[in-house]
Amino acid sequence: MPATVNLCWLRRDLRLLDHAALYHALKSEHPVVPVFVFDTVILNDLQDKRDRRVTFIRDTLEAMQEQLAKLGGSLDVFYGTPSAAFEHYTTHYNVHTVYANIDYEPYARERDASVGKFLKDKGIDFKVFKDQVIFDTNEVLKDNGEPYTVYTPYSKKWRAKLNDFYLKPYPVEKYFRNFYKQKSKPIPSLRAMGFLAGERDFPTVKVKDSLIENYDKTRDLPGIHGTTHLGMHLRFGTISVRELAERANELNQTFLGELIWRDFFHMILWHYPQVVEQSFRKEYDKINWRNNEAEFKRWCEGETGYPIVDAGMRELNATGFMHNRVRMITASFLTKHLLIDWRWGEAYFAEKLLDYDLAANNGNWQWAAGCGCDAAPYFRVFNPSLQTERFDPDLKYVRRWVPELDELTYPRPMVIHEEARKRALEVYKRAVAKS
Ligand code: FAD
Repeated sequence: MPATVNLCWLRRDLRLLDHAALYHALKSEHPVVPVFVFDTVILNDLQDKRDRRVTFIRDTLEAMQEQLAKLGGSLDVFYGTPSAAFEHYTTHYNVHTVYANIDYEPYARERDASVGKFLKDKGIDFKVFKDQVIFDTNEVLKDNGEPYTVYTPYSKKWRAKLNDFYLKPYPVEKYFRNFYKQKSKPIPSLRAMGFLAGERDFPTVKVKDSLIENYDKTRDLPGIHGTTHLGMHLRFGTISVRELAERANELNQTFLGELIWRDFFHMILWHYPQVVEQSFRKEYDKINWRNNEAEFKRWCEGETGYPIVDAGMRELNATGFMHNRVRMITASFLTKHLLIDWRWGEAYFAEKLLDYDLAANNGNWQWAAGCGCDAAPYFRVFNPSLQTERFDPDLKYVRRWVPELDELTYPRPMVIHEEARKRALEVYKRAVAKS
């Protein structure tokens, strides 16, 4: 007879401390097996077999496995579909309840509904908890009960609601004795899953107070290390957002504002999942995109002849990171100067960004293209040269990524800013006028 256990299903929350689902699981009456599914539905879609995010996840699981071994427990990692995983877990253990943190993305919602049904049919409870954000779906709404679609009033309400309770860590460590005792189980190798190891120089999870304290002064300067690079850790839950928001609240309100943007876009994706395919403002789906493939390729490769755009794209291609200011400039350039559908750019970022997150990526792309909720108005077309003068005046960032800037080999601008701007305004205006 297999042992009766509770499972804690880890997904975007790869840590053992300050973890809502793990806390509730360990406090329950049955010993806990933490489980993780290398989901083939997601993995099979990744083009790059050296995708560094897969390496990061696996490395993180290995580190967790070491910690768990000291506590006498083990992760049980499955490679396959979530339904096959739960078939497996429910035959190997006598599962009482499955605990997990809520994942707000449309695919995750479907996956959880189907796993939940499977478990229910077997008489197993599936309990989910808020963990990934400070306030989720319906916690910050307008007075009339509708979701906000504009950031500023949302952020005011968010800040007014914030108090110590929402930032309190879950004291998971108090219940560490309640892991189900078993020998460490092997974690499938990258090779066994069809992947190879990617480069491992991932951003550190340790960020100095001084960086956060100065954030409002440094965040817009791509030439210096003025932002936290914690995006990836927030994405995979290798840092607790409560812990970070508490530091933000103490040290720098501008920085806290960024975490509010994160909650905002998660809330938008939850209430308006159609944004994955469509513009938030439907009239913008009438834009007559040029979608020139050769031009798209030049943008991807950082060969547009606009140094700040090229620097950004090359930073992305080389490191899996791009500074936020430059993400805005490159996204604006693609959608306005080149009139290429924001969905193309969004997909390219999704493939390359280590911190890729559907809600944030989609929300920000729609913002840059002018078609999102609370978007920059379409007639605001970033001028790459002026942006460079303001935010990279000594070309520190540009020269780092475009060392051949002054050489004849560097391409001439592929479009003239003023002409491209006029063209964009005409095309956008026509689309909006049609509705
Ligand atoms: P910091 O400036 O140190 O901010 C801390 C954290 O706050 C970030 O890690 C992130 O979790 C959150 N945050 C900051 N700005 C935003 C924002 N505008 N929207 C939502 N959350 C924010 N962010 C992602 O996390 N994933 C994405 O896939 C993503 N795609 C983007 C695409 C475009 C076109 C643009 C313009 C922005 C995108 N962003 C995305 C938002 C932002 O650029 C990154 O969060 C930030 O650059 C990550 O660097 P950092 O960790 O140093 O952030």
